[in-house]
Amino acid sequence: MRAVSAPPGPHREPPARVPSIDALLRTPGGLTLVDAYGRALVTEVFREVAADARASLVERGDGAAATAGGAALVERAAQRLAALLTPTLVPVLNLTGTVLHTNLGRAPLPPEAIAAMSAVAAGASNLEFDLARGRRGERDALVEDWICRLSGAEAATVVNNNAAAVLLVLNTLARRREVPVSRGELVEIGGSFRIPEVMSRAGARLVEVGTTNRTHARDFVEAITPRTAALMKVHTSNYVVSGFTAAVPEQELARIAHDAGLPCVVDLGSGTLLDLARYGLPREQTVAETLAAGADLVTFSGDKLLGGPQCGIIAGSAALVARVRRNPMKRALRVDKLTLAALGAVLRLYADPARVCERLPTLRLLTRPRADIRALAEQLRPALADALQGIATVSVIDCLSQIGSGALPVEQLPSAGLALRPLKGGGRAPERLAARFRELPLPVVGRVSDGALLFDLRCLEDAQAFRAQLAQFASAEPSP
Ligand SMILES: *Cc1c(COP(=O)(O)O)cnc(C)c1O
Repeated sequence: MRAVSAPPGPHREPPARVPSIDALLRTPGGLTLVDAYGRALVTEVFREVAADARASLVERGDGAAATAGGAALVERAAQRLAALLTPTLVPVLNLTGTVLHTNLGRAPLPPEAIAAMSAVAAGASNLEFDLARGRRGERDALVEDWICRLSGAEAATVVNNNAAAVLLVLNTLARRREVPVSRGELVEIGGSFRIPEVMSRAGARLVEVGTTNRTHARDFVEAITPRTAALMKVHTSNYVVSGFTAAVPEQELARIAHDAGLPCVVDLGSGTLLDLARYGLPREQTVAETLAAGADLVTFSGDKLLGGPQCGIIAGSAALVARVRRNPMKRALRVDKLTLAALGAVLRLYADPARVCERLPTLRLLTRPRADIRALAEQLRPALADALQGIATVSVIDCLSQIGSGALPVEQLPSAGLALRPLKGGGRAPERLAARFRELPLPVVGRVSDGALLFDLRCLEDAQAFRAQLAQFASAEPSP
């Protein structure tokens, strides 16, 4: 390494103490980094760490000269480069007890979907190419037949997510026109999706009808004017209105709409393709039932109860779906080949309803019996207690899981798991313990409740992966 620092003197400018980028690049450490990451990025990161060092020298004065030494800077750059080149989106173990956790990526995909994505990821595919005729095709055609078979719809199209589906449907049918919606259904999903705001962005004018708890058929009838474009019903995904309530069922809303020559659209939110009651889950109206009740278009998510990739499905009347497809916004909201590959594979699993519950992870996790989950908790308790010796006690508990993503918000599923109670460290100890589990190579995400860190094991299928993290935990030092 070239000597770059002049001996310290009272009149020296602190910035000159930081080695030049050129000098750093020629150190053995610098050469190794260039070899690993390429000259351009290493040069950029050396500039950043050098600038930081200069700034801190100016701030702290002459005494801190040592911190700007070449070796220290190369080491700092190495750390920054390693962090920059580490993937930011990584798998985690979801032990929160919320199966469809929006912050944790919602539905886990089945192997069939993953295989379908990798089959088309690397090369060309018939995404928009009709192989039989040898000419341009329609990407929706790849999944439309199965959506229609499973829902009774005449036609269907797929967009980025259900929020996009609602936006596109309203923009297509109701731009500069009115859409009456019950005051009891003006939902907000996760802070960023609010029916009134999506409507105004779609260019439609929301006409609120009824009251928060009660909306009647006559409220809709009276709201219809020559400017009305459609009647709309929104699934109250993440809340229930209970007590003295009244809502207009789809069948009646559709009749009122059709009497006035208007379409009836339903935002189903989760949108299940199967009657979940047959698997012991709470009942939720299916897409097919909603269309059979007279809805002309329904919108629902691909990654909620359906158990597929993130997307939004618009299904229903062929004439209306054709109008939706012609909207130039469709192009901006369309899905890519990977999504269509995964969605197609998931829909094909529904072909056999007798086995879909076993083969589709979302349904498999949702229907997992408490006894199985409890047995897993008993099995894992000793290893966890070992890893946490002197840190926390570990006990097997019964708990309640949630479906999540606004599906059946009040229904909870009997589950089991492990409660970790810190032995010392005061009130914040459970949060600190939770943070240590999130720092593991495969981060483990639980939930803190009642002075304990809880791991609901409903979503843990790979017990081996969890055990491997326990070994890591035992060997890792707690972060300061
Ligand atoms: C979840 C939900 C949405 C938003 O769906 P995304 O797929 O998250 O875009 C819209 N409407 C209702 C009723 C929902 O439950």
